[in-house]
Amino acid sequence: MESFRSILKSKGLKATPQRIAVHEAMLVLGHASVDMVCDQVKKEGKAKVTAASVYNILSGLSTIGIYRRIPTNDNKVWYDAITRTHLHIFDRKRNELKDLVDDGFSATAAAYFKDHAPKGYKVDEIDIQLVCHRSRNSKKL
Ligand SMILES: [Zn+2]
Repeated sequence: MESFRSILKSKGLKATPQRIAVHEAMLVLGHASVDMVCDQVKKEGKAKVTAASVYNILSGLSTIGIYRRIPTNDNKVWYDAITRTHLHIFDRKRNELKDLVDDGFSATAAAYFKDHAPKGYKVDEIDIQLVCHRSRNSKKL
């Protein structure tokens, strides 16, 4: 939490109770939509927030690199507390966004696009999201 406060200070932003509460919620949730963060902040009861203020905080903190914006297949935006490039699984039936740990694929894709970028473009990052639903035999997840 102190590094969060330091980053805010370095960007000229105050560590308001609302920003602290939103960040605490993101640390608990990992991946979350505005509504999920709003519900978590209200559940903790440490600060009063509206969906609009949570949106503004998440959006602003994403702009300075504290969170990563993740658009999902259902045209919603989630926020991720992990900002480095990584793969995701989006389960649209359960409305869940999870990390997919597969560094081998990421490294292979990065190596491929290093030499095969679309003509006229330089690849900044590779952002892949698998859109899935659970199979019948996935009760152990
Ligand atoms: Zn993630």
